Amino acid sequence: DTNTNFTLAIEDLTVSFDGFKAVDALNFYLDKNELHVVIGPNGAGKTTVLDLICGKTKSTEGSIKFLNKELTKMAEHEIVRAGVGRKFQTPSIYENLSVLENLEISYPYGRGVYGSLTFKRNKTVLDKIHEIAKQIMLDDALDTEAGLLSHGQKQWLEIGMLLIQDPQLLMLDEPVAGMSVKEREQTAELLNKISEGRSVLVIEHDMEFVERIADKVTVLHQGKILATGDMETVQNDPKVIEVYLGH
Ligand code: ADP
Repeated sequence: DTNTNFTLAIEDLTVSFDGFKAVDALNFYLDKNELHVVIGPNGAGKTTVLDLICGKTKSTEGSIKFLNKELTKMAEHEIVRAGVGRKFQTPSIYENLSVLENLEISYPYGRGVYGSLTFKRNKTVLDKIHEIAKQIMLDDALDTEAGLLSHGQKQWLEIGMLLIQDPQLLMLDEPVAGMSVKEREQTAELLNKISEGRSVLVIEHDMEFVERIADKVTVLHQGKILATGDMETVQNDPKVIEVYLGH
């Protein structure tokens, strides 16, 4: 197998909804340290691809290999445990808990530190919380109730809640939607750092933001890849220009 070095290798992936192919024989590869942005018009199949990877939607055909595990046969919670983190547009944080508590309860129970009735704050976990809090720019807000954070800070907290589980693949759906200019800049820096040592897959519409973060861009159209490569190559692709200008 020539694709064993990729973090994620998607081959011939198809999903049909009542005969309509939302994703059509897709081949897609993602390396470690790669921040890959998927763009494309509404209905192109972007969300469906992420749903297929995290197991929310089951494929009709094809394979999704993640660190050489076949994901198409696994349940959603097994896929999370295998190291895939997904952030949706609406943050699912606990508004009445502090930033610290939100991070703490997201620490993986399976790794044997928390989850017992003899629950005790543990130095390993606290160190990790501080490290992540710094990364997501909330180290001064550890005791703040999450509900009081700004919109952007809530998004970062949710990213932190995923990071504390140490995913090897992090998927983000429109991470800067509704953010201020400053918050967008900070998020770009955050995502660039996060992609060191792991793979990041982002759906994004804001092309200025895409340009700032993307190592690679893939344009989806009608469930198929129209173009893939670096930003410049993709932007100058005649097929891409036609799809974007022709609508
Ligand atoms: P995008 O995220 O690029 O806007 P989606 O992946 O949400 O596109 O949708 C791709 C196509 O698949 C759309 O035409 C959508 O209506 C259809 N679709 C997505 N999920 C389902 C579903 N569960 N049942 C039926 N059709 C679906």
